[in-house]
Amino acid sequence: MIIEIIFPLPINKSFYYNKNNDVKKIKIGNLVKAEFRNKIITGLVINIHLDKKSDKPLKSIISVYENILFNKELLKSLKFFAKYSCNSYSSMLKLFLSGFKDNTKELPKFLALKNNSKIKPSLSSEQNIVVKKILNLSKKKFNAVLLDGITGSGKTRVYMHVLMKYIHKGLQSVILVPEKILTKQWIQELSNDFGIVPEIYHSSISKKEKYRIWLGVHLGKINVVIGTRSALFLPFQNLGLLIIDEEHDSSFKQEEGTILNVRDLGVVRAKNSNSQIILSSATPSLESLYNVKKEKYIRFCLNKRVKGSKLPIIELIDLRNENQKNKWLTNTLISEIKKTLKEKKQSLIFINKRGYAPVTLCKNCGYSKNCINCDLALVLHKKKEMNGELICHYCNYRETYSNQCQKCGKTELIPIGPGIERIFEEVKETFINSKIAMLSSDKIKDQKQLNNIINLIFENKIDIIIGTQITAKGHHFPNLKTVGILNIDNLLNSFDLRSAEKSFQLLTQVSGRAGREKTKGKVFIQTYQPKHPVFNAILSDQKDLFLNWEFIQRQKNHQPPFSKFISIVINHKIENIAMRNSRQIFIKLRKLFKDIICIGPSPAPQYRLRNKFRWRILIKHDLNYFKQNELKKFLTDIKKDNSLKIDVDPISFF
Ligand SMILES: [Zn+2]
Ligand SMILES: [Zn+2]
Repeated sequence: MIIEIIFPLPINKSFYYNKNNDVKKIKIGNLVKAEFRNKIITGLVINIHLDKKSDKPLKSIISVYENILFNKELLKSLKFFAKYSCNSYSSMLKLFLSGFKDNTKELPKFLALKNNSKIKPSLSSEQNIVVKKILNLSKKKFNAVLLDGITGSGKTRVYMHVLMKYIHKGLQSVILVPEKILTKQWIQELSNDFGIVPEIYHSSISKKEKYRIWLGVHLGKINVVIGTRSALFLPFQNLGLLIIDEEHDSSFKQEEGTILNVRDLGVVRAKNSNSQIILSSATPSLESLYNVKKEKYIRFCLNKRVKGSKLPIIELIDLRNENQKNKWLTNTLISEIKKTLKEKKQSLIFINKRGYAPVTLCKNCGYSKNCINCDLALVLHKKKEMNGELICHYCNYRETYSNQCQKCGKTELIPIGPGIERIFEEVKETFINSKIAMLSSDKIKDQKQLNNIINLIFENKIDIIIGTQITAKGHHFPNLKTVGILNIDNLLNSFDLRSAEKSFQLLTQVSGRAGREKTKGKVFIQTYQPKHPVFNAILSDQKDLFLNWEFIQRQKNHQPPFSKFISIVINHKIENIAMRNSRQIFIKLRKLFKDIICIGPSPAPQYRLRNKFRWRILIKHDLNYFKQNELKKFLTDIKKDNSLKIDVDPISFF
């Protein structure tokens, strides 16, 4: 008898061991301790070969974790996740064990879920109908629901009502959210409304706490978890409901290390565990809507805002007609903010750029300050007046800012374009007596600080909020009336097949922060392209008009969701080797797989990052499941080290 084990290490291989005589029973799915390269490591038994014998002497397993067993669903999901995303089983096991702690003597304590089921907030008639329909479906085994409700329509309340049913049935539920909305205020509101205290799981909780939740979930002691991406890999044994909140959010895609899409794999996990899954958003992704068209998902819409508030009025400010004189806020926007201040209401200025200025240029010779490791412009971050730092947003390279040009020696370096810090400066000068808060990931060190600022906003102690993407998600600001959106043209014209979709989502989400209570909100979008179809749809409040237009564009160009992409980036310190390796892979792909389209190899859009040269091959295909598996197996096998990055269903194309 031979035991086949995988370890959570970056090795695309399994290993054989003997059974130890002390170990009575051993099953597929057991976690075991074994010696590997002179270290004792925890591994997972993936197979037991009863009649196989080894030619070489094998080491014995040291011990078995008796109360831990990956069930069939976990094993199936682990294998599928790996295969689908071109990652090794081992790297996937690492994710599934990221909350597991070795050598723990003390078993953590679990409190029973506090559940005061008497508390349950009431539903509007529209919400009530949707809750009933979703619950009706829950009687079936696996099913996927797309909960598509306008901002402020109370999607959370709807899925929480569904979740409470699952608690009563004794089944486990998990809610996956983007990092930014996991604020104290949000959790508090949930707890108050529904009388439950859910467990919170994300990358920055302590190892001890992670293990407590990991084990609690595995032993069935914990029934409700709210978490970010990593919570999908918890060893649920009795899963009934999976919820993906803000399902359109790109942060569900893990882009570094083990590249995968947690939203899509969530659907697989729901399927493998015969659970229900609810994907919730005010701006569903085109992929999910396509699945509705193909009748894989069922779409339920919420078209009314709760609390009787209306969606905000949206107006465009045509920058071609404005006389701005080196300022970023137009006079129209300034006077609207002044009006709002008089009414003692809040304004939000949204700018999608961190730092002070995204580029610095020499006025004399045109020299631009780039990162020494990457082909990227350094972003100016100002500390005080003239004191600043140039930072690479990719590799974090930093240098002190001086306005002297390295090329011509003149002191004529100037910042180009706006970042949030520059807007902050301008707003401070324009509204001298107002209380202003900046919400940007650079300025906010941790969740605690974010909670503090959100509290101040909530209590109306802030007049003007200036925020980046971090403000666009899920927050409920009851006093917010006026929203100004700057620099959206940048996103509209970015080189990305999803630029229109992303702009539409962002505009809808940011606008949706305004006027959520009694006051009617107003949104002003500053743009040079007022005729763009995205604005057309936003202004006429016709989401489906935009979606249809976008579907037609994608179908015409045979782009996702009408085809699938796999991006391969080959990187190397030596330029020629990167190029040569990419050619070799390209030739092999062409030879082995006739019915795919290979684009490239060509220099990647970001040709040099962290001192490595990058070549890219883009595969476009509409292969069936089996052919896809063949292709992916080939790709996983050639991915031996970090010199090859394989991104299945890429959403960014750098
Ligand atoms: Zn110069
Ligand atoms: Zn860099």
